[in-house]
Amino acid sequence: MERMRPYDDHVITQVATGLFGVREETIQRVPIVEFKYAQGAKPGLGGHLLGDKNTVSVARMREAVLGISLFSPFPFHSVYSIEDHMKHIDWIKHINKRALIASKVSTPTDVDMVAVGSYAAGTHIVHIDGGYGGTGAAPNIAKKNIAMPIEYAIDKVHGFLEAEGVRDEITLIASGGIRTAHDIAKAIALGADGVVVGTSELVALGCVRCTRCESGRGCPRGIATTDPVLSKKMDIEWGTQRIINLYNAWHKELIGILQKFGLSSVGQLRGRTDLLMHLDYSNDVEAKR
Ligand code: SF4
Repeated sequence: MERMRPYDDHVITQVATGLFGVREETIQRVPIVEFKYAQGAKPGLGGHLLGDKNTVSVARMREAVLGISLFSPFPFHSVYSIEDHMKHIDWIKHINKRALIASKVSTPTDVDMVAVGSYAAGTHIVHIDGGYGGTGAAPNIAKKNIAMPIEYAIDKVHGFLEAEGVRDEITLIASGGIRTAHDIAKAIALGADGVVVGTSELVALGCVRCTRCESGRGCPRGIATTDPVLSKKMDIEWGTQRIINLYNAWHKELIGILQKFGLSSVGQLRGRTDLLMHLDYSNDVEAKR
């Protein structure tokens, strides 16, 4: 999209299984290309954009036929091994030499092996997505019951990458249920380098969590919609300020947390599980006293 061009250096492009709108030109424009192998909110289910949401502008962007449902199947049928993943990375490197490659995966029980395999294939960033994120479009049964909670996954992946001696060779990003500055601090203390948030931004924009995201005409706040009338409900300037406010507030909170522990950077917090305590365990200790 031409109007996004001024922001090219701040954009990550995602390559999902449907390859909708993925072109050499879009890959060449960005500093990070992310392969979406799975989403924590619905691992194994792929993506589905209802025909209702496939409006003129969406069909143009996705290079699809107007009004038909669009499926991003699970999985990539071209990737069944680390070697296949390497071929994906070679493909991107051939098109955009400066691009960093990210792999977004969900959190199966062997997520540590997945992460180290991604590293071996040449991934720069492994993005693990736990089960408590997702928009209202993900079915509840999938959201709450398939992927491992992100807290377990971060610790598992961080520990395994350290044991393999490659922890500092790859960036670990976590997402899926991270909604406050304290969640960010905890994720980093568990071993993540950074996080991705989604729900908090939606709420900052006025989302009422009505879980109707998948219905193109149903978003009462004009956020998850492609309907031109509903879209007008969202005032872009107001929304921009709300997102700025959110990040400024989190920034201050994070500084406060670091100060409390005498740390001078977020990097110093990484992997400091000694600063965390599970409240249930703390209650157990109290009860035994
Ligand atoms: S308010 Fe909009 S974005 Fe929020 S859950 Fe409802 S449909 Fe989705």
